[in-house]
Amino acid sequence: MNIILFGPPGAGKGTQAKYLVEKFKLFHVSTGDLLRNEIKKKSDIGKKIVNEMNDGKFVSDDIVNELIKDIVLDPQKKENLIFDGYPRSISQAKNLDLLLSGSEQKIDLVIFLNVNKDTLIKRIEKRKIIEKRSDDNLETLANRYDTYMDTTRPVLDYYSKKPNFHEVDGTLKIDQISAKIDTFLNF
Ligand code: AMP
Repeated sequence: MNIILFGPPGAGKGTQAKYLVEKFKLFHVSTGDLLRNEIKKKSDIGKKIVNEMNDGKFVSDDIVNELIKDIVLDPQKKENLIFDGYPRSISQAKNLDLLLSGSEQKIDLVIFLNVNKDTLIKRIEKRKIIEKRSDDNLETLANRYDTYMDTTRPVLDYYSKKPNFHEVDGTLKIDQISAKIDTFLNF
């Protein structure tokens, strides 16, 4: 089972991914976490991307596609993947399709967590205090939200026509959302 969790920044993708990872032993593919890890390690990639990440801008496709490639093709992880924050553009979605079809995999479920902008702003303000992420501030959120609307939201049309696409009201309580997701997985 390969799953994509889709939604704007602050929609709760990471929270639901953690729930699914624990319950179904899936492997969490968060490009945001992978990139933050490169910055923490002070790797060459980390040094290149630190400013873009802090400003809430997209990191280049080349870097992000390369980071997910090894995970998607790893025999220990493949067919057990939950994508969080990837794909974020049509070109990334096409890259993922190619990687998956080339390794006899597919996306089995796409879950869209739909949350309005006002709720996102309130959540990011809270998360800023708890997680201390350097890109969680109102100015950066405005950038990230605009980029989401311009570049990421069109990916929704790409997936919504496919079977196993589900939209969930992401303003519900965390366990209500998890319960809805469970029903898509037939448990
Ligand atoms: P996230 O943790 O998913 O909110 O991502 C945090 C930041 O990492 C984003 O604002 C981007 O700067 C970068 N990032 C994460 N995923 C991607 C991606 N798929 N493509 C480009 N940049 C990304």
